[in-house]
Amino acid sequence: MSKKQLVLENLHCANCASKIENKIKELDDIKDVTVNFMTRSLLFETKDEDSNEDTLLKIKKIVNKIEPHVIIKEDKKTIPLKPALNAKKIEIIKAENNSCCSRDNHEHNHKEDCCSGHDHGSNCCGGHDHNHDIINKIQPKEIKNNKKELILEGLDCANCASKIENKTREIKAVKAANLNFMNKTLVFQYDEEENIPIISEEIKSIVKKLEPQVKVLDKETIEKNNSGLKKEKSSIYKEHKKEINKLILGGTIFLIGNILNLENNIELIIFLIAYVIVGGEIVLRAVKNIARGQIFDENFLMTIATIGAFIVGQYPEGVGVMLFYQVGELFQHIAVNNSRKSISSLMDIRPDFANLKKGNDIVVVSPEEVNIGEYIVVKPGEKVPLDGVVVDGTTMVDTSALTGESMPRTIEKEDEVLSGFINQSGVITVKVTKPFGESTVAKILDLVQNAGNRKAKAENFITKFAKYYTPIVVISAALLAIIPPLFVEGATFSDWGYRALIFLVISCPCALVISIPLGFFGGIGAASKNGVLIKGSNYLEILKDIETVVFDKTGTLTKGVFNVTTVNSSNNYDKEKVLEYAAYAESFSNHPIAKSVVNAYKKDIDNSKIEKHEEIAGQGIIAYVEGKKIVAGNIKIMESNNIEFSKVDTVGTVIYVAIDKEFIGSIIIEDTVKDDAKQAIAKLKSNGVKNTVMLTGDNEKVALKVGKTLGLDKVYYELLPQDKVEKLEEVDKAKSKNKKVAFVGDGINDAPVLARADIGIAMGGLGSDAAIEAADVVIMTDEPSKIATAINISKKTRKIVVENIVFALGVKIIVLILGSLRMATMWDAVFADVGVAVLAILNAMRVIRYKKY
Ligand code: ADP
Ligand code: MG
Repeated sequence: MSKKQLVLENLHCANCASKIENKIKELDDIKDVTVNFMTRSLLFETKDEDSNEDTLLKIKKIVNKIEPHVIIKEDKKTIPLKPALNAKKIEIIKAENNSCCSRDNHEHNHKEDCCSGHDHGSNCCGGHDHNHDIINKIQPKEIKNNKKELILEGLDCANCASKIENKTREIKAVKAANLNFMNKTLVFQYDEEENIPIISEEIKSIVKKLEPQVKVLDKETIEKNNSGLKKEKSSIYKEHKKEINKLILGGTIFLIGNILNLENNIELIIFLIAYVIVGGEIVLRAVKNIARGQIFDENFLMTIATIGAFIVGQYPEGVGVMLFYQVGELFQHIAVNNSRKSISSLMDIRPDFANLKKGNDIVVVSPEEVNIGEYIVVKPGEKVPLDGVVVDGTTMVDTSALTGESMPRTIEKEDEVLSGFINQSGVITVKVTKPFGESTVAKILDLVQNAGNRKAKAENFITKFAKYYTPIVVISAALLAIIPPLFVEGATFSDWGYRALIFLVISCPCALVISIPLGFFGGIGAASKNGVLIKGSNYLEILKDIETVVFDKTGTLTKGVFNVTTVNSSNNYDKEKVLEYAAYAESFSNHPIAKSVVNAYKKDIDNSKIEKHEEIAGQGIIAYVEGKKIVAGNIKIMESNNIEFSKVDTVGTVIYVAIDKEFIGSIIIEDTVKDDAKQAIAKLKSNGVKNTVMLTGDNEKVALKVGKTLGLDKVYYELLPQDKVEKLEEVDKAKSKNKKVAFVGDGINDAPVLARADIGIAMGGLGSDAAIEAADVVIMTDEPSKIATAINISKKTRKIVVENIVFALGVKIIVLILGSLRMATMWDAVFADVGVAVLAILNAMRVIRYKKY
């Protein structure tokens, strides 16, 4: 078994995405596959390891057959919605002087390259595009390889490909060349960088001779365009200039043809001209696809439908329908692009650069280049690019991109800062503690972008539905056109043929295959804006079905910050000593109790005195300090170590302390419930959650008190971690059909329960790796009320998805019925196709636009 992810660049057609998924599913060695239209990714799992290469080839073939212009890229774990490096922002701040040579001095790999060897004239920077120059320096690997990649768009003849490859090798300045027919990439190695334009020109002319319809594109430029750098500047008109102009011209001729009362022949010519302008491209694509064995795609169906209209003498309809269709397609394209953009801007937390300290200088580098232990400077207005600890400066940071929390946080020396925070007021110097790949931002982006790969049931249903819908409608159309004219008296071919054409126009399930994944993707985006990370559309879909929420207590419903209220001592020990031994025992633990005890002790702890320590989950600690065995924890740990102790009966968590089996005293600590915990429970209740349950390892008194304060339905106490799993299973058995049980914990010793629940929700996920790993939903803040937020988003998403399914299918079915009765026109049919798609997309976008959840 192995998993692999591919990126399908230029994937614009949602229906094709579901076709690709359905086709790949049919391959023998495929265990599972998902195509995510929103992130343009394809994730597949094979049954065994060795069939990998072969399978990959088959997959590429399928993709190329269905969507020939898609460029397939391999081995990308995450798909950056934004470029890793924003070239424009790369600047060198405090360079000694401004020549490019001094810049090179900061670039460790490239000292020897400085000006030497190149015949650049007096100024070594001259002639180069500035941005380009800097990019190359920041990605030294590219220079070393001397490689350039071109994309040959529209290349579909393998034989011509090898000819192009051979001819390219013959170019003098080219050292080596390789053309990958599958992903249409021509890679060549050049001798001198300045020769690239000449080589490119030569390649273009070779391609023009051999395959005139193929477009040679620079991969770097494509990547830049795709990543939206360029699009920011251009308006929608500029982006779609060609299409819009074509539609205006064709539309005008179409209008003229309608207004003027012309003789039949001239009318036909005018409408034909309009038709070619508006729909020529569609016809051409249809022909090409048929040549490739790819029939019954949208292009083909629209071509048949509109040419059919011409044949039955409905010229204006033939043109008009094509025009309407193209306008609809354009709208659809714009709508999908905009939603992709607005979703990616929600997740626009990726830092563009880091100000790396190098001696006295500050060099701007890509965050990926910074190593652990290096120092970076973050100025006001900048994003914190990497996780680390502040070593200098004080500031306020805006954490809202990660937490949805709008109140800024004060950050001082020795505080931890996370990538994705935005620095607001002061300059801080940060010592980096994690490489970018493991930083909070990278993890969150990875998680959110891959969330679409775990599809919701509704999405899988639509993909399957799409597989059967088109053939059924097309076959019905054929039957409609042939049978009645043959068997029914008086039925003409032109009459029934028209009805059949209406069927063809409605035969694409496009509205559904676009809007449903978009809805879920939008829901995940909306959640992440609210500080809730949802790991998959499948979880988003079932959040609304939660019947019972089971909470852990410490750190989840309570703050997990304990105050020491009383220290009792016995056997003539000093109270201060009791606290000291407890603090020493606890000093290596991450448990909230341990941290509180260490804090209460206040004095420094000499770690060298601690010889061994062992944490027993749900019980406490056993540690050896200067040869003495210290046991600190609850009743259970005392009993299992056969220590005699005097039980304390109070509302508060009690830590009993013993030295070498002798009980020396106890520490009473108290936690407070979180500010929004009560409200959180109330909100869940009003949101349809029937049961709220709390599990805790703490004692009865504390458990019951918290339960009463918060209004919980049931409380179970004195549980070990494994007991918690058992209790959860009990609750799970009692749930109603189709309902779900969620467990909410903080990731500290409750990972097994998190994993066992239908939905595991981790609290305070910021910075806690364990929680992010184990849970299905991660709440970035410490607020339990966010669970209700997540449920609301799930409900809203569900509502919109259902609306879209009902609306799109409803309109289609109605128009199909009316069409077969000759009561609908082809205009209605086009509306049922593209019109409905655009409306469904706009509806799906409401998930993100909605502000209050
Ligand atoms: P909860 O179920 O409330 O989240 P845990 O399962 O983490 O709590 O712990 C249950 C109980 O075990 C605590 O109330 C405490 O009595 C004891 N305990 C756990 N860890 C420690 C520790 N490090 N030191 C002392 N007692 C501990
Ligand atoms: Mg806990």
